[in-house]
Amino acid sequence: MIHYRPSKIYIDPSVQNSPITQTILKTFPDISCEYTSEKPSILKKLDRYSDPLLEGKKHLWVTQNKGKLVKKCGASTSALQNLVCCNYFILDFSFNCHFECVYCFLQEYTNLPLMVVYANIEEMLKTVQDLLDRTSSSNIRIGTGEMADSLALDEITGFSQQLVPFFSIQKKAFLELKTKSDRIQNLLKLDPKGQTVVAWSINPPSYIQKYDFKTALFEERLEAAKECEKAGYKIAFHLDPLIAEPTWKKDYEELVGQLFSRFNPAWVSLGALRFNANLRSIAQKRFPNTPLTVGEFVSTPDGKKRYFRQLREELYQTVYGYITKYNRQTPTYLCMENEVVWKNSMGRVPSSEQALEKQIVSASLS
Ligand code: SF4
Repeated sequence: MIHYRPSKIYIDPSVQNSPITQTILKTFPDISCEYTSEKPSILKKLDRYSDPLLEGKKHLWVTQNKGKLVKKCGASTSALQNLVCCNYFILDFSFNCHFECVYCFLQEYTNLPLMVVYANIEEMLKTVQDLLDRTSSSNIRIGTGEMADSLALDEITGFSQQLVPFFSIQKKAFLELKTKSDRIQNLLKLDPKGQTVVAWSINPPSYIQKYDFKTALFEERLEAAKECEKAGYKIAFHLDPLIAEPTWKKDYEELVGQLFSRFNPAWVSLGALRFNANLRSIAQKRFPNTPLTVGEFVSTPDGKKRYFRQLREELYQTVYGYITKYNRQTPTYLCMENEVVWKNSMGRVPSSEQALEKQIVSASLS
């Protein structure tokens, strides 16, 4: 895995005393730093570069998240498309990622191509606490890995040192750290008390080499997962995106075999390859030789390009079949899929998002 090192750091003075900011400054005492309450001026100059996204990632902006700190996952806001939701909450602690996955949807966010760390951690935790105080659910999953990889920058921000202890004393919620990194050193110093799940997004080793640039390799991810498991963390896997390479059946059979012979995952999610509206053309430009964007895709009502439904159902059915051969009890769910695909692939449709949430959490964590 490639470690992140910015060429310049911009700090919003309102968060200069945050423990997150202080950890970043201690990690990079030699890097030029500018204090500004404005957006970093580099943003206006990035279009001079042939790959503004790549250049933007060299600049680290430490600021406040002034938007909604905790929100429901995008699937829940897509009721019109009948997407089945699992009542997942997102804590936005960071934006962007220095890894270069060919299919990463963040490439479409060209209006803010910097590495952004939100350092108003106290406010974030207070917002989570308020949510938990209000909710009647006792199975809430809160993840940090939507707009960034949960652990890729942990060695420079120390977020996990704030989050894991906070969740370790919660009765109603679990933290999910979703990652493709092996940066787990901070986690090993903490006691999660069963309330943190570390989840690796994973694919067969050759797919990772072809499509997940700068990330931890397959074996590095699984070794990191084993260390976390020994330290008391629950382990989960996201087989997302499932990619229909010519040898996918054999590749995913071997992958599931590897995962289940070494772990008893808290849950597994499956999600077939999909692109947002402009992402396919952006990925083609940034990774001109990639085979990933070649092939037939269909536009779906949620504005995405996906494999044809028949192929998606075949992917899910087949991989779910491999999983159930090892363990029928492992909660397995589809990410961002509709009721028809659920029914045809998994033989069931969850009755509600709360039912799915409960099924995932109570089977694996209680
Ligand atoms: S690890 Fe996730 S956030 Fe980072 S580049 Fe890959 S898909 Fe994007």
